[in-house]
Amino acid sequence: MEKRIWNFNPGPAALPLPVLEEIQAEFLDYKGSGMSIVELSHRSKVFEAVLNDAASRIKRLLSLGEDHQILFLQGGASLQFSMVPMNLLPENRSADYANTGTWATLAIREARRLGRTVRVAASSEDRQFTYIPKEIAVDPSAAYFHITSNNTIRGTQWQMFPDPNGVPLVADMSSDIMGRLFAPEPFGLIYAGAQKNLGAAGVTLVIIRRDLLERVPENLPTMLQYTTYAKSNSLHNTPPCFALYTVQLVMKWLEEHVGGLARMEELNREKAKLLYDLLDQTSFYRGTAEKESRSLMNVTFRLPSESLEDLFLSEASRHGFVGLRGHRSVGGCRASLYNAVSLDAVRALAAFMSDFARRHG
Ligand SMILES: *Cc1c(COP(=O)(O)O)cnc(C)c1O
Repeated sequence: MEKRIWNFNPGPAALPLPVLEEIQAEFLDYKGSGMSIVELSHRSKVFEAVLNDAASRIKRLLSLGEDHQILFLQGGASLQFSMVPMNLLPENRSADYANTGTWATLAIREARRLGRTVRVAASSEDRQFTYIPKEIAVDPSAAYFHITSNNTIRGTQWQMFPDPNGVPLVADMSSDIMGRLFAPEPFGLIYAGAQKNLGAAGVTLVIIRRDLLERVPENLPTMLQYTTYAKSNSLHNTPPCFALYTVQLVMKWLEEHVGGLARMEELNREKAKLLYDLLDQTSFYRGTAEKESRSLMNVTFRLPSESLEDLFLSEASRHGFVGLRGHRSVGGCRASLYNAVSLDAVRALAAFMSDFARRHG
């Protein structure tokens, strides 16, 4: 097999090699069906087994009980910015949001676009979203409290989830779901686009606490109601079959190859530490997120000048490292260390970065 590149893309992102190999091996003849997974009926037993296995693995990995239901939707995390308020925020109530970066800002904007009342309960906009706010007073009468668990663009992450004061927590976990352990009880709803830590782009995971389904207004378009997916096992219409299959395989890899979320978290901490230690030990690189808010998934940093950043990125790509350019809205550099990025890949990047600093510092 040809050498694969060191992939630090922010999303779509690296997938585990054993998963890609499994897809390749069974692509022409899925489990003796004589067809590819992308040619099967979504109503066949074979496909339903894929979907059900993906859902039960997700529940096991996150230790979810019967209170939470797994739904598979389309439209990305971005559609959830609208679906969450449409389904869970009645017009006569208000919802609290934490504004910790671009994605949170977009979620707030979409809720307001619908004419809903949103209160920004906490914000880190005063210091360019470089930290996670502390001491948040959630309005006990809020319909929900929305957070973005990991801020992909700025490289910050909630280290501990806020106390929602009895209000259901709603979280956009697109860029860190399955990256670490957490207690699911305070969460009323969790959503995540698949293309960072779950699988291929095209499917969106929604985890909803069953009691919240009672809030869903009946006059919403069918495809925008969570209940449509809850009642049909996410098979009201054709689901994104291939993307769902990749999610199943990635969850299987997490359980059987990595050994579960506790082990995944350990590996992610080890990976992130390699880069953060390097940022702290040289004055050449400067981490842009405040230390106590640093993300395990997206390590953001600057070099002494933009011209050195350009040189760094072009040398990196010649050495086989891709995806290190910061988001276009903030510039600089970013290494995304999602679950599928191996310790070896991060070790290789750290070695390259030390060497680059020595030569140009
Ligand atoms: C990538 C990302 C999104 C956007 O996801 P889409 O699936 O492209 O809509 C939203 N929120 C966060 C935190 C992200 O990282």
